[in-house]
Formats: sequence, C-alpha cells, structure tokens
Amino acid sequence: MSQDRILMDRFGRTFPYLRLSITDVCNFKCSYCLPDGYQGDPDGFLGVDEIRRLVRVFAQLGTKKIRLTGGEPTLRKDFLEIAEVVSSTPGIETVAMTTNGYKLPERAQSFFDAGVNAINVSIDGLTPEKFHLITGKNRFEEVMEGLRLCQQIGFKPVKVNAVLLKDLNHTELDAFIAWASTGVNLRFIELMETGENREYFDAHHISGQVLVDQLEHDGWIEAPREAWAGPARVWKHPSHGGSVGLIAPYSKDFCTTCNRLRVSARGGLHLCLFGEGGHDLRPWLQRDSDADRLKEEICQLLDLKVAGHGLHQHNTGATPHFASIGG
Ligand code: SAM
Ligand code: SF4
Repeated sequence: MSQDRILMDRFGRTFPYLRLSITDVCNFKCSYCLPDGYQGDPDGFLGVDEIRRLVRVFAQLGTKKIRLTGGEPTLRKDFLEIAEVVSSTPGIETVAMTTNGYKLPERAQSFFDAGVNAINVSIDGLTPEKFHLITGKNRFEEVMEGLRLCQQIGFKPVKVNAVLLKDLNHTELDAFIAWASTGVNLRFIELMETGENREYFDAHHISGQVLVDQLEHDGWIEAPREAWAGPARVWKHPSHGGSVGLIAPYSKDFCTTCNRLRVSARGGLHLCLFGEGGHDLRPWLQRDSDADRLKEEICQLLDLKVAGHGLHQHNTGATPHFASIGG
C-alpha cells in the first residue's frame, strides 16, 4: 500500500479515523435518536464495491481505523462481506463497529471472523425496564449476553456506550461505575442536540461533570491522554479493572482533538457531525480508475473543515438525528 499523503486540515489536525455509516435503517427506537422508529427510505446505500474503493483511498491517505456504524450496521444483509472488504484493505489496522446489540449472541463470532477487531455495544440502562424505556426494545438480556460473548471472543477493545441522560440514567451512576469496576470498559456520551430532539435535549441533557465528580469521589484517576487519541477522557481505578470514559462535546476545546471524518451511508463526506450536510463522493466511487480524483476531492474538501461545532448556539447543522450519519 502506498500512502501518498496524510489528511491534515487548516488547523493541523490529522485524521487517522473514519466513521463509515453503511445504513440509516435502525430497528430500535432510542428516545434521543429515533423515538418514532426509522421513517426514511431504506434504499440507495453504498454498495460493497463503492465501499472497497472508498476505504482503499482513505487508507492511502493515512486512515488506520474504520468504524462501521449506522443506523444499525448489522441490519445490512451484506454486513460480513463489508467487514471482510474493509479488514482486508492494506493499511487499515483496526476495524471497529458500533451496534445496538441486536442478535449479538448469534452473530458476534461471525463479526470477529470477518475481521472486526473492536466493538462498541450501546447499553443505556442496567435493568430490563430501563433499557426498554430508553431504547423502545425489550432486549436487555440478549444484549448483555452478546456483550459477555464479545468479551470472551477477543475483540479488543470491547466498549459499552451509554448516553448520559438526566433523570433516566444519571441517577444510576453508582451502578454503572460498580459495573465498570468488574472489568467493563464503559464510555458515557453526553447527550447532544440534533435537529429533531431539541425538546428531549432540554429535558434530559446533563453535563458530564456529574460523572467526573462521582469518579473522583470514588478514587478513579484520569488516565493521561495518548497522543493520537480522540476527544474522549478516560478514568481508571488503582485497585480494580475496567475503565470509564466520557465524551463531552460541550466542554471547552473539545474540537481541538478531533481526529475523525465521517462518510454517510449514501456516500456523503461529513467534515463535522454537526456540519451543513455531506459532500457527495459517489461520483468518484464508480470506477477504480477514479481513485486519484477521489483523493484530490477529499483533500480539497478537508480545507472546508471548520475549527469547531456550533452546539453552544444550538446550531446542529443538517443532522436530524445520529442514525442519519452514524454518530
Ligand atoms: N445503532 C448503533 C448503536 O446505537 O450503537 C450505532 C449507531 S448510533 C447512532 C451510535 C452511537 O450514537 C450510539 O452509542 C448512540 O447511543 C449514540 N447517540 C445517538 N444519538 C445521540 C445523541 N443525540 N447524543 C449522544 N449520543 C447519541
Ligand atoms: Fe438506532 Fe443506534 Fe439511533 Fe438507537 S442510537 S435508534 S440503536 S441508530
């Protein structure tokens, strides 16, 4: 693999990490994301050949890690084929995925065998009732069983994503932290406002500082940030395993550590999760011979990346919900 240049924006940030959405469709109804379930047109997503060309070019531009996301990525019938294509691309060292855990006990091994080596499972509540209330699905036991299996299979790392929600799960931080102490790598994400969840955001956003206070009170210590790491902060405990992370997009300087680009399921390059829409890459994904033009296009578009999001001004860009772009 020849890596001809590196993706760097006007602010000196580099982008070794691509979040690739492969579908908008989701079968869950998370109250902060798709409370009424998926309403879109489940068509027109990038095909395997388009994904192969896209990933090859990103790898040549220095991308080392690809996360398959969605909607729910595992709903793609050709998910395993996609994972195989991505994982066999020269230069790609980590193939990660984020899933709601649907049918995970039956499918986790096949994901691993297809080359996925890191997995995030979203679990916002620690009882069947709470899980059902937040996700609209009564599948807590299945998702937990899937998580345990992933830990045995050898994905590295296995992480649990939980969106921090005022009154819905922030009152259970003790239980979450105790669970992390058993060796679970937990990662809280502060609720972010999107085009469609303003009222929900006003009711349920709470600063991640509540988590930080609780962790410090319980003797957890913030780990030094690794040079290439993204925006998450991570805490560990001196006397037991596990870790607790926090993604706090409203915190000061959050965007200075941005290390990721996003491509939507229909081939739009999103320079920011809260940007004004995607830049269509699809015209350059139809033939292998367009690889150089695709590279040029991506490099030029990167010049448009802005320093930071406008969430503090309630500017959510063109993102109606995270299922539309992969979070
Ligand atoms: N469906 C998969 C899942 O839920 O894991 C993958 C896609 S989902 C959009 C990716 C992540 O974004 C999930 O962990 C989800 O909880 C998180 N998410 C969705 N909407 C969010 C919001 N408004 N604020 C913060 N996190 C959000
Ligand atoms: Fe689906 Fe994930 Fe959105 Fe929940 S957060 S509705 S599982 S895309």
